[in-house]
Amino acid sequence: MKALVFHGKKNVSVDNVEDPRIENPRDTILKVTSTAICGSDLHIYNGLFPQPKDLILGHEFMGVVEEVGAGVNNLKRGDRVVIPFPIACGHCHFCSMDLHTHCENSNPEFYGPEGGLLKGKGGALFGYTDLYGGYSGGQAEYVRVPYSDIGPRVVPDNLTDDQALFLTDIFPTGWAAIDWAQLKGGEVVVVFGCGPVGIMAMKAAWIRGASRVIGVDILPYRLEMAKKAAHVETIDASRTNAVDEIRQMTGGYGADVCVDAVGMEADRNFVEKALNVVRAQVGTMKTLGYCLDAVRRGGVVTVVGVYGTPFDNFPLHQWFDKGIQMKGGQATVHKYIDHLIALVQEGKVVLDDIITHKVPLTDASRMYEIFNNKEDDCVKVVLKP
Ligand code: NAD
Ligand code: ZN
Ligand code: ZN
Repeated sequence: MKALVFHGKKNVSVDNVEDPRIENPRDTILKVTSTAICGSDLHIYNGLFPQPKDLILGHEFMGVVEEVGAGVNNLKRGDRVVIPFPIACGHCHFCSMDLHTHCENSNPEFYGPEGGLLKGKGGALFGYTDLYGGYSGGQAEYVRVPYSDIGPRVVPDNLTDDQALFLTDIFPTGWAAIDWAQLKGGEVVVVFGCGPVGIMAMKAAWIRGASRVIGVDILPYRLEMAKKAAHVETIDASRTNAVDEIRQMTGGYGADVCVDAVGMEADRNFVEKALNVVRAQVGTMKTLGYCLDAVRRGGVVTVVGVYGTPFDNFPLHQWFDKGIQMKGGQATVHKYIDHLIALVQEGKVVLDDIITHKVPLTDASRMYEIFNNKEDDCVKVVLKP
């Protein structure tokens, strides 16, 4: 089959590789019909997350069940399904608490019974480096889906692939960013990052009762997309001091909720530098710092943008003094997905209005370049195997 293979920093290509096969009774083999490139793929592409050997990338995908393992009773050949990006057993200590991204069984090498330092490593994700289990991803013609009895969700017939695809990751992730803030209604929510994840968080903020939603970015075309797809006010942080502006817009108080939907690539030069110095010398990353500055006293900051170990230096004083509540992490898609499928089906939210590029899988390596360089007004790329 054909698949997009990561070979090294900024080196991906569509190669002929071996077809996946059932390895465990709870597996299925999926024929992928749609798959997307995510900002998270860029951390690997840019060499910020180490991946020493070749790996098929892709954690946002859906398709048609081709082959079902003997232990999977809820799916049959021909079912069209969408797949949560975390790989989770469904039954361990953490899965039982709806914390599927911390599954103890999907990533045994790093999260085994031995524990120790590695006990801190989370569960597995599709196509997301050896640290996250080393599983082949879904930017491919076929993919093996472990724990298929608890992950895949059958897509209602009346939804197209484009309408359903972002239930794998970015809508549940945007939803998590807002859910963690526990809105009561009437809040001012600021989302840093008008990429796919940020825009999904904005859509979620409206549904959960925000009275005002503001999107911040440094690229005018991304701000335009946020206006169009999420009907938000915007701030161009490349032209103005976003924190001052937010304070002015909120009578000096700051926003009730700030969401960091950018992560460690906010300043690429800084990232490159940070990888080469000891951890203690590195400050908090840019947009997380903005969030802490722009949130009101007693407000909430949620973080879905991804950070790695060089960014462990955190402004404890500011967090303590302002009484800020914080929560972040990989989104627990399994917890939210059924509710979110219903929202899409009922027409309460539209997800496919951010797709700017839909191309054959064979064009994937060029699309990585375009998406990474933010060229061609690219917001979200869908690949068709
Ligand atoms: P993206 O690269 O398309 O979007 C990032 C946006 O941030 C871009 O529009 C960029 O212009 C903007 N940006 C960069 N620097 C900025 C700055 N200083 N101020 C304001 N905006 C700035 O990526 P995406 O697909 O939207 O993903 C965003 C983040 O979410 C990534 O870190 C990704 O890994 C992460 N993510 C997390 C989860 C999760 O479960 N927590 C899931 C999916 C993605
Ligand atoms: Zn993703
Ligand atoms: Zn588990």
